[in-house]
Amino acid sequence: MQDRPPVTVLRLGHRPGRDERMTTHVGLTARALGADRVVLANDGASRRDTIEDITDRFGGPFAVEETERPIDRIEAFDGVVVHLTMYGLPVQDVEAEIRDAHETDPVLVVVGAEKVPWDVYEHAEYNVGVTNQPHSEVASLAVFLDRLFEGAELDREWEDAERRVVPQEAGKRVDET
Ligand code: SAM
Repeated sequence: MQDRPPVTVLRLGHRPGRDERMTTHVGLTARALGADRVVLANDGASRRDTIEDITDRFGGPFAVEETERPIDRIEAFDGVVVHLTMYGLPVQDVEAEIRDAHETDPVLVVVGAEKVPWDVYEHAEYNVGVTNQPHSEVASLAVFLDRLFEGAELDREWEDAERRVVPQEAGKRVDET
């Protein structure tokens, strides 16, 4: 996990009202499942606070950035662009090839909100479907990251955490560190 190029998640778009929790959950899922940073589209309102607060309390490293021009991030990215879309190639058919590329190259995982511009499909090295059924950016991101890291993200160590959950068969235990 630590000895490989970074993985960045780019969240395209945001529908005010409808997407408030969804955008936060893209960031939290990216963090929890092994990505190094999330880039959120900023349409005038910042949505980074909850993600940064969780990172402060439960550890990192994990970076949050915002951009007013998310498409520029894709065009400028020096690495492998993976766009998650229900119209893409089945994840199970391309995951090994993407993992091989990730041994040397950073990966940008792009997820949408509303209709994704055609440019994104063209710029992506891989358009990947997690099934070819419509569902959610949070679900597709979680499955994709788990496939990319082959489960290693589940054993990740967290640095500078103020709190640590101690797994329990029943009940809740959180230690202050
Ligand atoms: N209607 C939009 C479009 O035309 O692209 C998609 C909206 S969907 C609610 C939001 C995002 O969820 C998509 O942009 C995509 O990143 C992700 N998504 C939904 N279903 C997916 C699937 N089966 N595989 C991969 N990603 C998916």
